[in-house]
Amino acid sequence: MAYMRDAATKPKLFRELVFEITTFLAYEALRNIRTEQVSVKTPVADTVGRKIAEPGMVIVPILRAGMGMLDAMLRMVPYARVGVLGMQRNEETAEPIPYYAKVPPAKGEELAIVIDPMLATGGSACDAVAQLKKLGYRRIVFLCLVSAPEGISNFEKTHPDVPVYAAARDERLNENFYIVPGLGDAGDRIFGTL
Ligand code: URA
Repeated sequence: MAYMRDAATKPKLFRELVFEITTFLAYEALRNIRTEQVSVKTPVADTVGRKIAEPGMVIVPILRAGMGMLDAMLRMVPYARVGVLGMQRNEETAEPIPYYAKVPPAKGEELAIVIDPMLATGGSACDAVAQLKKLGYRRIVFLCLVSAPEGISNFEKTHPDVPVYAAARDERLNENFYIVPGLGDAGDRIFGTL
């Protein structure tokens, strides 16, 4: 996290760190996925093990910064489907403006994993989850790298049924709705658009 926060860190290393930390988050978020007991014949004896029994998973990056976490998620869940939600924020009010949505239709009990590096006001995250619920998703988790107390509180009030996994909980938001100390604009740092 310290390397990622460092303003001197260039996009190449920044992306690698996003990948690494997202992998750790995925371990946590997938800890309770559905598994079932299976029989296994080792070269020595019969035994039992467990295999994943999820009806499916859909990874949902919020554009654009969420794309930075997608490779790591697909590495962990290679058979997942991917839905994309485009959300821009009004820089004055920090309100989310949805501009694109391409999400596979919900199939029964599929698990939707929403990814966005920064949970600041919580506006985009709340809106993204509301869109997924409207599409019929009933099992949803949210993963981010850095969160602000304001965003967590807003999100938990709006979607108390959706667990949040965050690698860091920072101090606060500043007057421009940036997380303090944070890491700046995650999209700019991932894509080198500073
Ligand atoms: N989005 C970012 O990329 N950074 C912040 O600090 C807040 C929102």
